[in-house]
Amino acid sequence: MGCRGLSLLSGGLDSQLAVRVLQRAGADVEAVCFSTPFFDCSAAKRAADALGVRLHIVDFLDDEIALLKGPPHGFGSAMNPCIDCHAAMIRRAGEMMARLGYDFVATGEVRGQRPMSQNAQALVTVEKASGLEGRLVRPLSAKLLEPTIPEKEGLLARDMLLDFSGRARDRQIALAAELGITEYPSPAGGCKLTEAGFGRKLRDLIEHEGLDDRRLVELTVVARRFRLPDGTSVLLGRDARENAILQGERGTIVAPVNVPGPTALLPRVCSDADFELAKGIVCAYSRFDRLNGDVVLNVGQVPRPYDREMFRSFQVC
Ligand code: SF4
Repeated sequence: MGCRGLSLLSGGLDSQLAVRVLQRAGADVEAVCFSTPFFDCSAAKRAADALGVRLHIVDFLDDEIALLKGPPHGFGSAMNPCIDCHAAMIRRAGEMMARLGYDFVATGEVRGQRPMSQNAQALVTVEKASGLEGRLVRPLSAKLLEPTIPEKEGLLARDMLLDFSGRARDRQIALAAELGITEYPSPAGGCKLTEAGFGRKLRDLIEHEGLDDRRLVELTVVARRFRLPDGTSVLLGRDARENAILQGERGTIVAPVNVPGPTALLPRVCSDADFELAKGIVCAYSRFDRLNGDVVLNVGQVPRPYDREMFRSFQVC
């Protein structure tokens, strides 16, 4: 008995339980988290520290962009290609398995927990699509699934694996208490791609600039976005942190110099008409109520007043 496994760790309860259950079944476990701008790995880092396991963080954005261009199994309720995304993560984990000498890849999936991505058929589809047949262990539902190769070879004790299914969380919560897992976020719907509002933003990018510029994709999680009549995209910082991020980007920067207000980034060259509108947007979102005169921008002067309502129809999300 004894084997090495690589377990996908999001930081959520199920992924933490999966690690502990595998350890109890005789495995030496390391964890992996796939990082994109749409998913923050900080919960995974905290969980890995609490569990005392090594965490690999893998940049997954290029894989995600490829899927957003045409996921073979389609999108969920928003711009979330969950089945293919999950299969691609498992495939990447499988490549690490081959390279680094693990015996299997594991996930915290529970059969029947999510109607689209974790029903019985989806679990089989993901396993086939990932190319990891026989080497993909779902320790929380393993007894309801076909035995995997490490179980058949006696490397992983099948009788120590579980038979969780369905959407109820009681058994997970009881097991967490038993295993000493106390820190976990409340169950969430997934990454930002599952949010309808974020989906609108992304669709707007796809329609106008496409997904080939990785930097523009990364910027979708930052700032308000406006689409102007000649096609210009304007990103407007919502706080000091976002303003600082935009200031560091390539493109034209517009910001007020004599009143507090947002930084705007125009990532691409634009028409004169759109540029005037962009200046108006910065002015409208600046604190010009404190001022008697014009707003001075770092690209010139804009007379007050400007009303945010004027720009409502340009706002994407
Ligand atoms: S919720 Fe996001 S990260 Fe998770 S499988 Fe779906 S698309 Fe991928």
